[in-house]
Amino acid sequence: MSTPSHRYHITTFGCQMNKADSERMAGILEEMGFAWADEPDDADLILYNTCTIRDNAEQKVYSYLGRQAKRKQEQPGLTLVVAGCVAQQEGEKLLRRVPELDLVMGPQHANRLRDLLEQVLDGNQVVATEPVHIMEDITKPRRDSTVTAWVNVIYGCNERCTYCVVPNVRGVEQSRTPEAIRSEMEALGQQGYKEITLLGQNIDAYGRDLPGVTPEGRHQHTLTDLLYYVHDVPGIERIRFATSHPRYFTERLIRACAELPKVCEHFHIPFQSGDNEILKAMGRGYTQERYRRLIETVRSYVPDAAISADAIAGFPGETEAQFENTLTLVGEIGFDQLNTAAYSPRPGTPAALWENQVSEAMKSDRLQRLNHLVATKAAQRSQRYLGRVEEVLVEDRNEKDPTQVMGRTRSNRLTFFPGNITQLKGQLVQVQITEARAFSLTGQVVGKLRH
Ligand code: SF4
Repeated sequence: MSTPSHRYHITTFGCQMNKADSERMAGILEEMGFAWADEPDDADLILYNTCTIRDNAEQKVYSYLGRQAKRKQEQPGLTLVVAGCVAQQEGEKLLRRVPELDLVMGPQHANRLRDLLEQVLDGNQVVATEPVHIMEDITKPRRDSTVTAWVNVIYGCNERCTYCVVPNVRGVEQSRTPEAIRSEMEALGQQGYKEITLLGQNIDAYGRDLPGVTPEGRHQHTLTDLLYYVHDVPGIERIRFATSHPRYFTERLIRACAELPKVCEHFHIPFQSGDNEILKAMGRGYTQERYRRLIETVRSYVPDAAISADAIAGFPGETEAQFENTLTLVGEIGFDQLNTAAYSPRPGTPAALWENQVSEAMKSDRLQRLNHLVATKAAQRSQRYLGRVEEVLVEDRNEKDPTQVMGRTRSNRLTFFPGNITQLKGQLVQVQITEARAFSLTGQVVGKLRH
């Protein structure tokens, strides 16, 4: 299995957490001697890293799997792996549905890919979905970007939002130590990475499970302390974090973001609904008033902060008036970006079993109305960039126009401008904004900052 002629292909569905897991698993496969294949049909090992949040992602996995299962009948040496949330949720059932599968592994097992594949080589069909204590990562991820990287800081989630499968599939909260996180960031800084996004399903829970309390009685290790601790890692110019939970987002954290120059002025704080009854049914633990106060506090410390969030339309029992409360919140806050979704019942979650489901037609009508408002508001927010000079970290070329490059402002706005990617990749440049669209900007370089 370690001959270099072996090739692998990974298809990733879903969230950043899954993308980070895929990078780690790719790193393990490369250490085992596998090389990346651009086309799944050229690979000897195919891994689907799956997501249960959206139904179509789950359906896509089954259709891709079906094709590869057929290929396996002619090519028995092909190894088929399903990882991620569908794997965790379906476990053995997946093997019964697709008997050609070799390995079904939950997200907590990503670091064990080598061991699990060795068991497969011994002729076993393996299902690894039992809860495990996540061992410190000793794997080197194969990262898709050479400029920006994700660093996991906490795995799992102890919340019980009634629509969410994450606690079932990713287990309880397990924080990495600040030392392990810092040393991963130092290595990334040395390799030339410029931007780090610290990741957790509920990143504000960071440190709750680590030992130590301060004399004032608070946990010694919090996300705020972590930001201070990793802030001066050499080479890293920008730090972001996601995903935040409004219930646990503290003023102390906001102050740290305002004080620490590398922490970007972008806050992604999902509110999910603008209606208190729906928030209660979701089990979110805050009210829309509290969410608004939180945003006011953010803006009092960082007036120009970009604010983004996630929202769900058509949660079970949502009335027209309750949905309108979401529209009002979106209208009044003025988000820079909002990820929206129609509610989709996930197996194994409480809300999926409720009888007061909203019809598909109504969900899609509400989603459309919400998206329309989001685009209008985002376009208005974008106008404030016109004529301004923004710091942009160049990530890649503009796929649609090779004479241009793309990067992001500190506020996470996608920005395009004329330039040569070989000269500019990984550099921080000053760009004067000449065009502002709802979710992206165009400009001209006016100066180079540093690289
Ligand atoms: S905080 Fe809620 S929505 Fe987020 S991962 Fe945990 S249970 Fe899911």
